Amino acid sequence: MKYSLLICSFILMLFSCKKAEKEALETVVSTKIVNFKTLTGVEDLLADTESVAVMVTRSIVLRDPLKIELSGTKEVKLMNFTLKTIRNIQVFVKLAGTGERVALLKIDSITPLVTFQLPLSIVDHEEQLYTESGQLITLAKQTDLSKAVFSVVVDDPFYKRLNAMKIPWRLNFRKSQEDVGNWYRMNPLHARESLVMFTNLAYLFSQESTQTGFMAYEGLTANDGTLLSEEKKSAVYRDILTRANIETGLVRNVSGLGGGNLVAVAEYVMMRHYNKNAEEVLVHELGHALGFGHSSNMTYASNSKAFHLAMRPLINKMLTDREYPYWDYRMLNTYNKYIDMTGDYLREGKKPNGDRHNPTKYEY
Ligand SMILES: [Zn+2]
Repeated sequence: MKYSLLICSFILMLFSCKKAEKEALETVVSTKIVNFKTLTGVEDLLADTESVAVMVTRSIVLRDPLKIELSGTKEVKLMNFTLKTIRNIQVFVKLAGTGERVALLKIDSITPLVTFQLPLSIVDHEEQLYTESGQLITLAKQTDLSKAVFSVVVDDPFYKRLNAMKIPWRLNFRKSQEDVGNWYRMNPLHARESLVMFTNLAYLFSQESTQTGFMAYEGLTANDGTLLSEEKKSAVYRDILTRANIETGLVRNVSGLGGGNLVAVAEYVMMRHYNKNAEEVLVHELGHALGFGHSSNMTYASNSKAFHLAMRPLINKMLTDREYPYWDYRMLNTYNKYIDMTGDYLREGKKPNGDRHNPTKYEY
């Protein structure tokens, strides 16, 4: 290694002596690296202080939770909805009418749930940059990026696991947030915990072993009580795998609500999704979203058979093996927090005076 480095520097020196200075510089063009710790203007996403009006505009693709978009004319805005720090982020641009993406810069790391802007130097001057396939090009100064497409590639083991999920679900929060009927207002703690719960759910159903387990489980019934055929089960699973949107909220009076794209649970369910054998409500509501009513055991069990019982051993294994993207309740520690800024608080966890509302037991 040391030997080859010596050779490289020797060759480079020769180049510097014999060739024009500009050409020698081309051999050492390196992609700009942004050090996250030096950035200013970094803001939190889904923080406790985030207003409900802003919270309900959040929209998160669970398998690709780092968003990037043009902001104004000279900057890009990044929004990271992962709950773990990610590393090695490469930012690309594809200009209108061009074939290949061009690497603009790299970011060393991004912490969980943050947003920030980065200036684009290509709007100020011509630049030498690499295309995705490694070709060095000279990019002219850009005057209009409105049709440019920005994207990111994250070379991080955790992020790659999210990226590898088959399920394309985009998670949204109900626009209407009021204490009315069976609905409670969500606060940002619920939104963060929902993000964890649905990421894990998408991860579960993205696994080949889950599909195999579902197909092999016998005794699942349709709304008319007849057994689901192989074809029907395949169609149900295809629905899980191809659905674009999942909407969630927070319910009261009942344990959960589901139907259409809506899958919502009560706070006590949301606080306990890290527990083994605690999948019943969530999977029941997913069953509703998949078009099944209470006469089908895709919701409630009948004759000890149910959708959630088919999933139970698989979910328990995810928890035991710590295979879920987010398996540890201590990461968010939602249950041990409360919100007092709006007079609101976490109904399941601690009261403002430190007392508990309801004891929740976590088992590992
Ligand atoms: Zn139900």
